[in-house]
Order: sequence, then structure tokens, then C-alpha cells
Amino acid sequence: MKRIALFPGSFDPFTKGHEDIVLRGTQIFDEIIIAIGYNSQKKRHFDIDYMVAKIKECFSGKDNIIVDKYTELTAIYANRNGANYLLRGLRNTTDFEYENSIAMVNKDLYNGLETVFLITSPKFAFISSTIIREVHNYGGDVSKYIPYTL
Ligand code: ADP
Repeated sequence: MKRIALFPGSFDPFTKGHEDIVLRGTQIFDEIIIAIGYNSQKKRHFDIDYMVAKIKECFSGKDNIIVDKYTELTAIYANRNGANYLLRGLRNTTDFEYENSIAMVNKDLYNGLETVFLITSPKFAFISSTIIREVHNYGGDVSKYIPYTL
């Protein structure tokens, strides 16, 4: 059976830390679906369709990496797309506390869904979408932290 992993996130924006998780994930899984979860309550800094296009640009030519967006529960989207694994990245204990409870809920909602965590590569550990948004908002150069040009 094909091992398909869903890498869900806000990706507002997608960073070099995220790219690293995807590329390392391709060594474990046959296919990775990167999907931006859309939450109408949460205002985005970077437009969702723009970000989908930018992520696609990063992995063009790699047909085992798919980029999409979704509005339903992550577990339901995974199930609908044949993904048995959720791929997530861990930078620190704050990530762990948050990820731990989401992983349990997702497993509870859909028993076939295993969450697999990759520990961040140290050189990307300080990169966060929140900080990039702040820097970008004030006109700072964020090109070092993202794997595409804005
Ligand atoms: P969410 O809003 O679902 O937390 P994010 O886009 O912030 O989505 O992050 C998606 C995933 O990528 C999460 O598992 C997060 O911990 C992980 N992640 C974020 N930044 C990094 C990084 N620099 N290195 C490794 N993993 C990261």
C-alpha cells in the first residue's frame, strides 16, 4: 500500500523549516500532500491561493508532492485523500504540548490516522511563520527564511 502523508498547516507563510520537513518526509513516505487549512475566523497575512501557488513553485517537477487547501476537519480531509499519516514538525516543548493534544484528537476521530513527528533541523529551529509575518509587516527582508521569492 502506498504510504501517503498529509502535512497540514496554516503555512502563513510556508518557510524553509516547513520545506525541510517535507523533503525529509519524502524519504519516509511515497507521497506527501501539503494542505493549507482554511479557517474563516482567522485572518491570513498571505493570501491562501497565492501561498498554494508559491508552495507548488518550490516542488515543481516532484510528482510525489501535492499542494492543496481545505476547509473541513484535518482528519476528514486526510481520510478523503487516502492519507494514513499526518506529518508534523517539532521545534520545542511548546510545539510538543500543542501537537500532543491535536494528535490524540485526530487519532480519536479517525483511528487509521497516525501522526509522525520530525524534529526540526537545528538551523531552521528559530524560523516561525509568526516572526516572518511580523518582519514582513514592518518591511523587513524575509527572503532568507522562505524557499521562494514573494
Ligand atoms: P499550524 O497553524 O497548524 O500550527 P504552521 O504552518 O504554523 O501550522 O506549522 C505547520 C507544522 O510545521 C507544525 O507541525 C509546526 O510545528 C511545524 N513547523 C513550523 N515551523 C517549523 C520549523 N521551523 N521547523 C520544523 N517544523 C516547523
